[in-house]
Amino acid sequence: MLSDTDFLRLLPKAELHCRFISTMRVTTLQELTRRDGIPLRTDDLEELLNYQGLPDFLDVFDAAQQAMRAPADIARVAYEGVVDAVRAGNLRYREYFVNPDNFAALGVDYPALIDALVEGFGRAEREFGVGYRIITAINRSLGPDAAVAMVEMVLAHPHPAVVGIGQDYLTPELAEDPLRFVEAYALAERNGLRCSAHVGETTAASPQNVRDAIETLHVDRVDHGYRVVDDPDVLELARLAGVAFTCTPHSTYELSDWGFEPGHRIAQMIRAGLVVTISTDDAVFFKTDIGREYTVALPAMGFELADAARLARAGFEAAWCDEASKARMLAEADGLIAALIAAREG
Ligand SMILES: [Zn+2]
Repeated sequence: MLSDTDFLRLLPKAELHCRFISTMRVTTLQELTRRDGIPLRTDDLEELLNYQGLPDFLDVFDAAQQAMRAPADIARVAYEGVVDAVRAGNLRYREYFVNPDNFAALGVDYPALIDALVEGFGRAEREFGVGYRIITAINRSLGPDAAVAMVEMVLAHPHPAVVGIGQDYLTPELAEDPLRFVEAYALAERNGLRCSAHVGETTAASPQNVRDAIETLHVDRVDHGYRVVDDPDVLELARLAGVAFTCTPHSTYELSDWGFEPGHRIAQMIRAGLVVTISTDDAVFFKTDIGREYTVALPAMGFELADAARLARAGFEAAWCDEASKARMLAEADGLIAALIAAREG
């Protein structure tokens, strides 16, 4: 009989909140940084990911970014990240946050970046059937004008794989401040891009940030959003709007020190009837993968196998791919889930 852990690991999964840089295989990080003479804190790869604080994490993240200046390296990382996630947790579809400003600073222009990503993700799709879309991330530390310029650039180079905008980093004051980026979101929405925002994540955040993202930025999805449970009115607004939340359990452990228990905010969000999907955010660099989010975090937060199957399915439902692809993925997912249930009973 199939064990609980194998059931959870083998559930077909769609991940909607995943930073591309953090899908880099750690051995590839070591190889590329050695080649380019980029220093890492230690040669011990286990130790490298044991951070003493946020600066250690940012060092690793920056080194990974610095090591990806050539299209061939970007395509390799894109491909390997899918291979690993299929093995770790039966990934079937993923949407990636990609930050064009970071790559531009290294001399990789936007069209070259997208071509390289599509080469790697496309190869993985042909070999493993794992679908993908790209979300360009507003770097909040660069301010509202840079955000508008980034959206203009995306619109000037339309590509079928690039479906929306999101965010990364924080403002220079280490705030979320969604309303600072209202112009970029309005431009994206007017031109048919889907929109998500990182709100309600940090200790400085409030439920109002979630309300602003929904009511003023008109987001289709909220990334993180954990502070929504602190205000019943905002919780009800989010529930009625049907907006999906992309939650990342292990990142809350790393960044906020929240243990996995039934009172965890993500568990509260699920029990309150919000549409919640499960992702990794910084998979490799937070020592997690899409399998572990299901096999470790969900059971510890008190969820049963049927809940996990429902959450996995919600990931496909909330995807930003075209409707025909979504219908095909959902049919495939339903077949796989039914087979897993049968294997449990057998
Ligand atoms: Zn995130």
